[in-house]
Amino acid sequence: MSVQSKSSLASIPSVDRLLRRIDAGELSARFGRPAVTDAIRGVLAELRSTPGTTPASNPADEAAIMDHVAARLAEASKPSLRPVFNLTGTVLHTNLGRAALPAEAIEAVTLVVRGASNLEYKLEDGARGDRDDHLEQQLCRLTGAEAATVVNNNAAAMLLVLNTLALRKEVPASRGELIEIGGSFRLPDIMARAGCRLREVGTTNRTHLHDFEEAIGPKTGLVMKAHSSNYSIEGFTAAVAEPELARLCRERGVPFVVDLGSGTLIDLRRLGLPHEPTPMEALNNGADIVTFSGDKLLGGPQAGIIVGRAALLAKIKRNPMKRALRVDKMTIAALSAVLRLYFDPDRLVERVPTLRLLARPVEDIRTGAQRLCPLVAEHLDGIASVQVSDCNSQIGSGALPTQRVASAGLAIRPMSAGRGSGTALKRLTSAFRNLPVPVIGRIEGGAFVLDLRCLEQGDETAFVAQLANLALGASPAK
Ligand SMILES: *Cc1c(COP(=O)(O)O)cnc(C)c1O
Repeated sequence: MSVQSKSSLASIPSVDRLLRRIDAGELSARFGRPAVTDAIRGVLAELRSTPGTTPASNPADEAAIMDHVAARLAEASKPSLRPVFNLTGTVLHTNLGRAALPAEAIEAVTLVVRGASNLEYKLEDGARGDRDDHLEQQLCRLTGAEAATVVNNNAAAMLLVLNTLALRKEVPASRGELIEIGGSFRLPDIMARAGCRLREVGTTNRTHLHDFEEAIGPKTGLVMKAHSSNYSIEGFTAAVAEPELARLCRERGVPFVVDLGSGTLIDLRRLGLPHEPTPMEALNNGADIVTFSGDKLLGGPQAGIIVGRAALLAKIKRNPMKRALRVDKMTIAALSAVLRLYFDPDRLVERVPTLRLLARPVEDIRTGAQRLCPLVAEHLDGIASVQVSDCNSQIGSGALPTQRVASAGLAIRPMSAGRGSGTALKRLTSAFRNLPVPVIGRIEGGAFVLDLRCLEQGDETAFVAQLANLALGASPAK
């Protein structure tokens, strides 16, 4: 070790000395003294191991050391779960939290989490209540079902239905519907964990009524039909229509269960989208039970909704697993508020963000892109070009998997096209991801594309304001 670095080591201030500073006191008031002490120790350790470099060229510069400590504390206190701008073009993006809640639902949650509530308490007579009471009537009125309950998510709904009605029994399901939705959600696995034996029926592309006729027997617990999510089978195909399958199940005395996946409560043609099956239709077609998600096209909180025949729902509610899969008061408050909006169809689309975003006219999105283009370009001067471009959004979360919705956005292309442009593109996406409110886009045709369907005019100011933080220096982004 050189004489010089030895002397710089000697000039590093002590932890105690730094803790006595006024700015350390201010940091302690914000982050707590133990955290400040730890941060100071960390920064000093770095100084000792790399003298003459971080955080200050002069190790005796206490103010510079404390700036570093403050930055470290601020970074560490950022919540892990944070808002982002979803400009991927996938409106219901599972990895980005799916549906944004309507203001009415956010308000309802805020009201109920402040203190005690009548979650399972009957205010009329002071008797014990059932948390389902807050939702069941609404769900029955909206879907026409006899009874309803709500659990953690649709996967939980299926687990509960299968375990209640088909424990140690067989569940015939079409080979074309043995779905994997992502993560570890595979229908055959859920069935196994629910204690059911899957009985595969038909072939991948074709399943006929007689396949089910042969499969249903004394060991059958229920017959399951799953809405094809994330894929479509095209070409030489055949599936059994719901009414036919329902009739067969009724004749044989086994419940007919439909997993709708997204399960919109409105006719999507109202939004200019193709039709997506609704729980009402499935029930009209003779389904005894229908399950669907709360945070897909319904536009509410994460939840699994089970609607159907009262006798079957009574069994489902008595299953001890229901207790393990139940929803909490925040979900109930939010879902109830969202469902309330469905009773006012004329204002529904404007009030439910998921529907509003899906219904946004492409001209409106393009106008936004034109407004934003120069403002974004200003921050990328000399680094990347920015152009308004047409693109395609998708619904996401398995709804209308092959359907694309015309949209518009910004195509950002690094100037250094050709060799090394992959790195430049990566640097660009990383800089947007590292903004205070991270911006998530997608890479398409050599460009970083920001689909602006999910950036409404009211959010544009916040989006633009933070672009000054784009860290796009010559050095590679972290
Ligand atoms: C999304 C989906 C599920 C899972 O729903 P979660 O609410 O995410 O648990 C199950 N089945 C189908 C057909 C789906 O599309």
